Amino acid sequence: MGFPFQRDSFQRQREEMVRTQLAERGIDDLRVLDAMRKVPRHEFVPEPYRLDAYGDHPLPIGEGQTISQPYIVAAMLEHLALEATDRVLEVGTGSGYVTALLSLLCAEVYSVERHAALAVSAESTLHRLECRNVKIRIGDGTQGWAEYAPFDAILVSAATPAMPPALFDQLRDGGRMMVPVGPPFSQELQLIGKVSGEPEVKILEGCRFVPLVEGTVDSG
Ligand code: SAH
Repeated sequence: MGFPFQRDSFQRQREEMVRTQLAERGIDDLRVLDAMRKVPRHEFVPEPYRLDAYGDHPLPIGEGQTISQPYIVAAMLEHLALEATDRVLEVGTGSGYVTALLSLLCAEVYSVERHAALAVSAESTLHRLECRNVKIRIGDGTQGWAEYAPFDAILVSAATPAMPPALFDQLRDGGRMMVPVGPPFSQELQLIGKVSGEPEVKILEGCRFVPLVEGTVDSG
């Protein structure tokens, strides 16, 4: 993992984002803050939005999807309490921004995206940034990625009315999953632990994600 553009012209904006949007709002996991200081978020947003990449809000990334607001990404990562040795499944690669953060925070990242165009673009950005410990697949992430299961942690970046059971099956015992659960326009973040094979649900803050779409893949 190189992040060759680490000393880019956006570095000051990144520092400012970490300080005002994250640290001052209670994110205090140093590994998460450090990763967010390093990953060039502007590389993951389409050209017209680059100057706005470090703003306190989500941004469009094409195909009707969005890159999440920095704070909600940091909160999800902090609650997952990732270890450097973890193998993690991400559902909803989108721009690949969270994938890049995960690649710094853990050992192996497996990410599934249902929009082929987004998956291809994310893969090329991550390759350019030398994220080597990441595998991306085009598919329906509600089915997980059985070939590489079980996972130490699972991060779902899209909203679902109920936690997909296949994902829980692919979580190792003692593992944890972060998933936004609820109806289309307002969800709650749930941290779901697997304890002796049973879910232990902790309800965190409110959030608003694009929907997790089950079934067919968008190959356009
Ligand atoms: N973490 C991403 C957020 C992307 S938004 C980022 O930082 O950019 C959520 C993504 O989930 C969208 O790209 C959407 O296409 C994808 N998605 C929705 N349903 C999915 C499914 N069933 N399987 C895989 N990806 C899905």
